Amino acid sequence: MSRYWSDIVHRLTPYVPGEQPALAHPVKLNTNENPYPPSPHVLEAIRQELGESAEALRRYPDPTARKLRETVAAYHGIRAEQVFAGNGSDEVLAMTFQALLKHDKPIIFPDITYSFYPTYARLFEVEYRTVPVDDAFAIRVDDYAMPNGGVLLPNPNAPTGHPLSLAEIERLVKINSESVVVIDEAYVDFGAQSAIALIDRYPNLLVVQTVSKSRSLAGMRVGFAFGHPALIDALIRVKDSFNSYPLDRLAQVAATASYLDDAWFRESRAKVIASRERLTAGLTALGFEVVPSGANFVFARHPDHDAGTLAARLRDKEIFVRHFKAPRVDQHLRISVGTDAECDVLLTSLREMLRANVG
Ligand SMILES: *Cc1c(COP(=O)(O)O)cnc(C)c1O
Repeated sequence: MSRYWSDIVHRLTPYVPGEQPALAHPVKLNTNENPYPPSPHVLEAIRQELGESAEALRRYPDPTARKLRETVAAYHGIRAEQVFAGNGSDEVLAMTFQALLKHDKPIIFPDITYSFYPTYARLFEVEYRTVPVDDAFAIRVDDYAMPNGGVLLPNPNAPTGHPLSLAEIERLVKINSESVVVIDEAYVDFGAQSAIALIDRYPNLLVVQTVSKSRSLAGMRVGFAFGHPALIDALIRVKDSFNSYPLDRLAQVAATASYLDDAWFRESRAKVIASRERLTAGLTALGFEVVPSGANFVFARHPDHDAGTLAARLRDKEIFVRHFKAPRVDQHLRISVGTDAECDVLLTSLREMLRANVG
């Protein structure tokens, strides 16, 4: 009975998350989850928080996630008042739209990027313009030198995996000193330098990160923003006007424990990067063109086969990859880096399908 809807609801274009199949053993390479379990310290911290009787769950969690923010600040060599924590970086981005990106001028972001950005723009009634990436899917920083109400881009970009250097990010921040520049670093640990190194010098820079990909904690829903305390204050004001307790107790202790186990982090990151290079070589050998990736996924097209058909036939075999029916990218597949064994299942199936001339 949509006649009861608020007016805005009619105008929304909700984000469509990748499929979470209800299968026992899918080869799931469609939502960029980490193929390895989180640090064992995470499980231990959750067990400790629960104790024998889960008594702690009776009480509300710390609304400011102070211990977590202090731990993450120490990890990055910054101060806790430069850190905001939210329920996944998607929520942090949503709060950023409300707190920092709603101005008279439209915000700008790449034409090929995280498809949640236009969704938030509609929800929060923020006008936007898109800036085309070049034919190799590279973001050209100079194209962002125009009057705007804010700049938003992932580094590395999604779904292309294309990374920008720290020098290019700094130039982007410099040429947009009149507005907030938001760098979404969901994949930064797999192949780019973090712009957190710049936040002390640029009061208009906000860096967003997540534990979902490089820390194997997508199921816990924890994300961060890093920036000047004035930017963080704006986010806190929005948070405390919406939900004082976005992070539950288990999420707070789990994420804290993850940042205290750097050996696990380095090892799992190295494994994913090595598997990405192996997957890239395997796809290239099958005739795919693969965009050089700094992320935990690759973006690939085959010149002779239809991407949508390949994705559908893979799905029949319980192998899940992401295909976007959108301009400029509808002949590409975005494939998350799984274990080498999962990547081999994918490569074997693709080899058979190409031989049988599927797509
Ligand atoms: C996965 C992803 C996010 C969301 O991460 P969560 O912290 O799990 O909400 C944000 N931005 C980009 C570009 C992503 O790919």
